[in-house]
Amino acid sequence: MDGPQVKALAHRLSVAVWGHRVDRIDVPVDRWQANVLLKHCAGHHVLRIYSHGCWLIWNFEHGVSWLCYPVRRWSWEIVQAGGAFIREPTAWTPGPTAVAARPRSRPLIRSQLDDGREIVLSGRPLFLTLLTPDLWRHPHLADLGPDPLAQELSVADWRFRLRLSEKPTIARALLDQRVLAGIGNPWKCEILHAAGVHPATRAIALHSRQIQQLATAAQACLTRAYRHYLGDLQEGRLCAVYDRAGEPCPTCGTAIIVDRCGRDGHWTWYCPKCQRPDTQALLFDNW
Ligand SMILES: [Zn+2]
Repeated sequence: MDGPQVKALAHRLSVAVWGHRVDRIDVPVDRWQANVLLKHCAGHHVLRIYSHGCWLIWNFEHGVSWLCYPVRRWSWEIVQAGGAFIREPTAWTPGPTAVAARPRSRPLIRSQLDDGREIVLSGRPLFLTLLTPDLWRHPHLADLGPDPLAQELSVADWRFRLRLSEKPTIARALLDQRVLAGIGNPWKCEILHAAGVHPATRAIALHSRQIQQLATAAQACLTRAYRHYLGDLQEGRLCAVYDRAGEPCPTCGTAIIVDRCGRDGHWTWYCPKCQRPDTQALLFDNW
């Protein structure tokens, strides 16, 4: 689950909820009984549903917000009045190319709209109910970096954000949500490949040309991913290198390799030819 998926989900939910009031909220009897803020959202309109990184945020008109984070598999479904599921486009699995599947867990929240439809959240997300003015002061959100899909970041912004990271390599820094919010492992690999940057390059040693390439690649890759998850983009090969070890690089034909690139615990797929280590840049950083 990464930023583009959650952004596409936010768009779908916005379209479904726009102009409607949440009339009733049902939660399992043994959960969240004490959450007065959550239950009191019934009877109010939703002003906005949007995402920041992997966080899905609902703003209600009465100054209360829901924050949801997909710690594990989750599902948001729109159910027609009468119980028939309209479709399952908002049920996600972790990989960008994986097939959507409805989780077997029981619903966590059923929000009934004023036209009889229901928005049903299932799975095991982190779910918080907060007062909207306090939203960005919450520890989970206060340290989040900017979302490249929500705002265009300049080379200076990128340089500043990368210097905030304590992660030594660019592969690890891109996954650091305090640096940039919403980049998951698949899109980290794709951004590095599109930018021609070796994953083990030291984040603070990147020169301006590489940072520019990263900024451009991130915008292009994340936007393409967002359009894919929206269903706007039909293409055979969404990922150039991710999960394609041994296959030819679409740019140069060299076999794609996979490596941990340090101790970050995440595998990185990359092309050893298109993404050569740029040792010269460490010596001659004239950009
Ligand atoms: Zn290549």
